[in-house]
Amino acid sequence: MLQRQLLPLRIVFFRKIKTVQLLKRCLDSVVPFFLAGVLFIPAVTVCAQTQPPIYQWRLAMSWPDGTPMLHNAAARFARNVEIMSGGRFKIIVDSPGRHKAPLSVLDMVRSGAYEMGHSASYYYKGKDPATTFFTTTPFGMNPTEMNAWYYYGGGLELLNKVYARHNVVAFPAGNTHIQMGGWFRKEIKSIQDLKGLKIRMPGHAGEVVGKAGMNPVSIPPGELYTALERGTIDAVEWVGPANDIKMGFHKIAPYYYTGWHEPGAEVHLFVNKPKFDALPDDLKAIVAIAAKEVSFDMLSESFYRNAIAWEKMKRQSNIKIRTLPDDVLDLFKQANDELLDRAAAKSQLAQEVVASQRAFLEKAKDWSKITDEDYLQLR
Ligand code: CA
Repeated sequence: MLQRQLLPLRIVFFRKIKTVQLLKRCLDSVVPFFLAGVLFIPAVTVCAQTQPPIYQWRLAMSWPDGTPMLHNAAARFARNVEIMSGGRFKIIVDSPGRHKAPLSVLDMVRSGAYEMGHSASYYYKGKDPATTFFTTTPFGMNPTEMNAWYYYGGGLELLNKVYARHNVVAFPAGNTHIQMGGWFRKEIKSIQDLKGLKIRMPGHAGEVVGKAGMNPVSIPPGELYTALERGTIDAVEWVGPANDIKMGFHKIAPYYYTGWHEPGAEVHLFVNKPKFDALPDDLKAIVAIAAKEVSFDMLSESFYRNAIAWEKMKRQSNIKIRTLPDDVLDLFKQANDELLDRAAAKSQLAQEVVASQRAFLEKAKDWSKITDEDYLQLR
């Protein structure tokens, strides 16, 4: 009883102590202002303003919980933002298990339902054809070339010119490195084998294989294994050894093809534009730096984990490694060029993106050939 009566007194007492401590901290910080001749009262106002607001935002990612590299990238980004902001900016990462809309992350960020998203730009090509090529382009740039284009070749500016129309600020935020071409139940020996084959292949590459006679579909990452198991699809492309082996595709479709369609797929951080614009400048810079760091980190982690997984995978006798026949690749290249022209014709911005990537790739190809390609032949 007595304790209950004392409780309010205690609260008052502790509040007073807290106020005194706060005032002492304020007075400590006031000294330089006072010495500089600034009046005491305005200095207290400065002190009151130094208690910064805490931002607590939510980020929707397209990837299921625990997806190697991709979930790591989103979680690492959130963690780094909180550390760099001294705890002023906290981001809760939600997976599709919670938000239920893996391929609608852009919509959720655009509307403000989520302040942030981590997703692949090419999932939204139906909404805006100009978004497609920011993830990757078949037979296009590798990750080194892609980074050069993004950070020095005008890519970042184009990215935001496109996403401004969707009420979103976008940043490159993770690269998978060169992806493998996917898992097939049956071997592809000729162009005829492509006919009617149902494959999960999103983005522009899906259109390319469609033009070549296959039947491309876009299925959320969390449903891929079931779709392959039930025969909804005959083949599936996902990422590379480290991600793919975890999905278990090799148990159903043993032919594993080398890549051509995603030579350095970049994923992105989306931020609701009005909310981003309202952030203080230091938090804006923290978001940009954390996104750039995670872009580099995911590429490094992807390379490392794929190299380790590949070493084990190539020794498994039930997995048959193949490269598509030359005539199939030639057909894909031709279809890709025609479809790039068609995509460019759909909108002025798509045309700008395609033209910018093509122009840089022409220069980059020669430099990569005399450096990377030449060196890889030597060792
Ligand atoms: Ca992929």
